[in-house]
Amino acid sequence: MKNIVLFGPPGAGKGTQAEVLKDKYQLKHISTGDVFRYNIKNKTPLGTLAKSYMDKGHLVPDEVTIDMLNAEVDKNPDAKGFIFDGFPRTEAQARALSDLMDKKDSQINAMVALEVDDEILVERLLERGKSSGRPDDANEKVIRERIAEYYRKTDILKKYYQQQDKYYGVDGVGTIEEITQRLSAVIDTL
Ligand code: AMP
Repeated sequence: MKNIVLFGPPGAGKGTQAEVLKDKYQLKHISTGDVFRYNIKNKTPLGTLAKSYMDKGHLVPDEVTIDMLNAEVDKNPDAKGFIFDGFPRTEAQARALSDLMDKKDSQINAMVALEVDDEILVERLLERGKSSGRPDDANEKVIRERIAEYYRKTDILKKYYQQQDKYYGVDGVGTIEEITQRLSAVIDTL
């Protein structure tokens, strides 16, 4: 089983690359942001709760997010492996993911991080906001809050995976194909 955490700040290109990589490596792609958006669209209680945080650019509380992620993994007992996109985002989530992988007699093989300068992220997200329909892409203040939240709570996960020799940084600026090649060069060594 190959389990990869695709990491990086908002707008780094995780979702775009995960869509390509899941087919290339036959992995199940789980995006916690997509699951929350699905719940918002279907007006579930989880969606209502998540929306109150997402609209402000804040993270959804760990307990809720971890329970949801566990359920998503459990829905795919036959997966050859997973690409986690947008999870973990806090140290508590990283520990929960490690416990979950242990239970499946598996592990996270690597955190592959897309590295992109903050101002490029803001530009990309404002551009995406013109067509994504995502309220959190439409407002520069919310975009900057999402990036700030990343530095407050998520960026430290680099260290968490570096300590396990599982961190791989990749330049996230270039064409989609160039970046896929850089990511594949890492994944092929795992
Ligand atoms: P994303 O689609 O990954 O950009 O996520 C959009 C929003 O969903 C984030 O700004 C958070 O509010 C929420 N979210 C997604 N994944 C997580 C997570 N792992 N932990 C907490 N909140 C999350």
